[in-house]
Amino acid sequence: MARPTQARLNLHALHHNVQVARKLAPDSRLMAVVKANGYGHGAVTVAQALEPLADALAVASIEEAVELREAGINAPILLLEGVFEPAELALADALKLWVTIDNEQQLQWLERARLEAPLNCWLKVDTGMHRLGVSPQQTRPVHQRLLDSTNSTAHPVIYTHFASADELDSPQTPDQIRRFDDVCSTLPALRSAANSPGVLAWPQAHYDWIRPGYMLYGNSPFPCPHAAADSLRPTMTLVSAVISLRDVRAGETVGYGATWQAQRDSRIATVTIGYGDGYPRLAANGTPVLVRGQRATLAGRVSMDMITVDVTDIPDTAIGDEVILWGDNLPIGEVARHAQTIGYELSTRMPPRTPRIVIG
Ligand SMILES: *Cc1c(COP(=O)(O)O)cnc(C)c1O
Repeated sequence: MARPTQARLNLHALHHNVQVARKLAPDSRLMAVVKANGYGHGAVTVAQALEPLADALAVASIEEAVELREAGINAPILLLEGVFEPAELALADALKLWVTIDNEQQLQWLERARLEAPLNCWLKVDTGMHRLGVSPQQTRPVHQRLLDSTNSTAHPVIYTHFASADELDSPQTPDQIRRFDDVCSTLPALRSAANSPGVLAWPQAHYDWIRPGYMLYGNSPFPCPHAAADSLRPTMTLVSAVISLRDVRAGETVGYGATWQAQRDSRIATVTIGYGDGYPRLAANGTPVLVRGQRATLAGRVSMDMITVDVTDIPDTAIGDEVILWGDNLPIGEVARHAQTIGYELSTRMPPRTPRIVIG
């Protein structure tokens, strides 16, 4: 028998989540973001499932785009950070990739390149995130230079990125939208702004292209309940199983550093998953897990290959019982909060060691 630890990928859920995004933004085209190995799910697996459902895909680097092209993905692919050196433009040309232009350097590389065909360019504007993008004042002249360059197709898309769209009360998103509208108002270009929280909560930011990532994998980007986000279905369910059981007396401790102490006579289940399998080491005592579908809590530090769980209140727990670490009925974001991080990081850090098993 194989080790029972696996990340189950539910492609029906992926399909459902794309439909949720489509219904929320019926007049927008959909660019599915599959960077960072498809948020840890496996880039080729999710890109193959998303290719027929999305209008384009997006990745962070040309290496990620090459992996998809080599796997036979023909959909348009946008490089969200553009190229990192001029030589990559020739490869982008050969692979028919779309490139972000977000600063003067990238623009000059493009203007000076010798390409077979013009590239589809996405001009990024910095409306307040202050990470990538040209300033609002530079946008018009840079846009004009793209129109003048034979290396850019005739219709560059203008886009921006939100810093706080997951904070529904923050004034920053309305402020970014206002700046973006100001910049675009006199430029005849298609526009894009919305990441997952933008798709879910900021309809005025849907524009011509939405760019969801996290929500496609079925996870809510919000810390609080949200009807649309909570209708998503997790694409990844991380499962393992109980491999050992013991009773410990009140006062005994469990695990490395003896950080958990039994307050009552307790039953401890050992589960074969640890930080070497993508379960966060910082998950604190009390982090929820599902044993036989019922909630139990982490007891003691996460080891490399195992965790220990207090199953005192699930007395019929047996060796071999399935344990769910996140996914169906246990949102990854909830687990992440117990580990001082966000679901994005947990999902993205899933290592190759954990087998991905595709369902659907
Ligand atoms: C990662 C990324 C997205 C997707 O963000 P999510 O919050 O995962 O939906 C969209 N646009 C850009 C520019 C990104 O870098």
